[in-house]
This record gives sequence, structure tokens and C-alpha cells, in this order.
Amino acid sequence: MIKARCYRCGNPFTLTEQFVSNALAAQGVTAKPTHYATECPRCRHVNKLSLGRAHLPEPEPPAPAGSAEP
Ligand SMILES: [Zn+2]
Repeated sequence: MIKARCYRCGNPFTLTEQFVSNALAAQGVTAKPTHYATECPRCRHVNKLSLGRAHLPEPEPPAPAGSAEP
């Protein structure tokens, strides 16, 4: 888990490494960036989280709806 605190409203929230990895893959980012920008779930303020210590797992491939593939 990556712990964060909103710079504007002070709301603490957490992201999973898997969520960040999937989001970066969806943005076409292949190399691990130093920061990840995410919105505060309370006030929508964009916070930049340091990924310096985070170990991002392999992104999960998006599961297309109705696909017959295993
Ligand atoms: Zn906030």
C-alpha cells in the first residue's frame, strides 16, 4: 500500500501498488516514474505521490468484457 495525504484538505488515503501499476500502464507509461499524480478522493485536488520506495508489480492486463480468452 502507498500511503498518501492530501496537500489541500489533509485527507489521508491509500493506493495499492497494483492500482498505480495498472493506471500507469493504461497511460502508456512503461518505465516507473518518480511520481504518480492522483486525485484526492475527497476534494479532487491532484497530489503527486513519490514512488521512490514503491515496488510496482506487473500491470494486470485489462479484461475485455465478453472476451472468450482465459
Ligand atoms: Zn483533499
